[in-house]
Amino acid sequence: MTSSMEPQGRFTAWYPGDHPTNPKLLRKSITGAGIPGTWCTPGSIDDIPDSKGAYVVLLRLDEPVEIALPGRAQQVFPPALYAYAGSARGPGGIRARVRRHFRSSKKLHWHIDRLTTRAAEITALAVPGGHECELIGRLLNRPGFHIVLKGFGSSDCRRCDSHLLTVARAAGN
Ligand SMILES: [Zn+2]
Repeated sequence: MTSSMEPQGRFTAWYPGDHPTNPKLLRKSITGAGIPGTWCTPGSIDDIPDSKGAYVVLLRLDEPVEIALPGRAQQVFPPALYAYAGSARGPGGIRARVRRHFRSSKKLHWHIDRLTTRAAEITALAVPGGHECELIGRLLNRPGFHIVLKGFGSSDCRRCDSHLLTVARAAGN
């Protein structure tokens, strides 16, 4: 087991009041990061391709969520916007994977399932042919994007500290 999963101190600096509540501005910021793709919501999931690639799931928590990952200390994820990057290279491609993320009821398998099942709002950007680590790199180059918790969502990745980011207000300005 890795011991690298530690809270990032700056994460609490803008909690609880100072987080963006306008997903449209955040979507603009993500698009501004030069990530080409198709946005979808649970109502428009059929619009996105079933090709292989990557995606960004954007979700909003309105209430704190306590998460206890196996063998780790419990962590509180405050109300905020979160961006998670993942890959979809299996059957059904990006559409099938994002459809699963959108389900609020499911067997918890990935770290991110603990957040998607509690999201007040959720959208996704499908990036056919994309790679999740490259997406994380591009987002971290934008103002306002921060790693939440080292190791979250990136157990199989040697390149990224995490595949989950939070977004501070600067990203929406
Ligand atoms: Zn990665």
